[in-house]
Amino acid sequence: MDIVVATNNSHKLIEFNRILELDKINLLSLKDENYNDHIDESGRTFKENSRIKAEEVYLKLKKPTISDDSGLEINFLNNEPGIYSARYGGEDLTDKERCSIILDRMKGVPKQDRVARFICCISYINKKGVLFQVEETCEGYISETYIGENGFGYDPIFLVDDVCFGLISGFQKDIISHRGKAIRKIKKYILEKVVE
Ligand code: IMP
Repeated sequence: MDIVVATNNSHKLIEFNRILELDKINLLSLKDENYNDHIDESGRTFKENSRIKAEEVYLKLKKPTISDDSGLEINFLNNEPGIYSARYGGEDLTDKERCSIILDRMKGVPKQDRVARFICCISYINKKGVLFQVEETCEGYISETYIGENGFGYDPIFLVDDVCFGLISGFQKDIISHRGKAIRKIKKYILEKVVE
């Protein structure tokens, strides 16, 4: 059985591959499927955007599809960047530049007010077109400086229990991350359905 992962983010694809490792299930990227259409993330929530991505790809390719919409919410910034995490500060910025904007905006803010969370909503559409969604979070806080080079996005400024995502391995991140938790739930769902 093939499942298309509806993302162009190579880091997310690596995390999906690492955690799903399903017997008899072959994960395909959009590149494998020569899918180049732009997907307009016009939803107002992670859940809506995740569904939009999965539905667009499923309707075009007619194959089971899995998608992820995720981002970072920071209490002090009124939950910004939220659903705009990927383009925060401007479309052409690097991940490091986006992190710097946040660090600058949080300069001098005490630790107790640096509370933040990663959120991940995953949508899975099976071969019959049935949608299943899960949303998971990972609570932490924003560091005062840029720490480490591991991971992607906001990992080098996100701390859980004083450990920065920018310093831990992918396997360590999977255990506690928003995406790790969400993918494991989806995996359970897919395995139960495949066995049925
Ligand atoms: P999406 O592709 O629209 O879901 O954008 C997600 C964005 O949120 C990414 O481009 C990152 O900036 C951020 N993000 C989501 N998950 C993570 C993570 O696990 N680590 C670091 N940044 C993340």
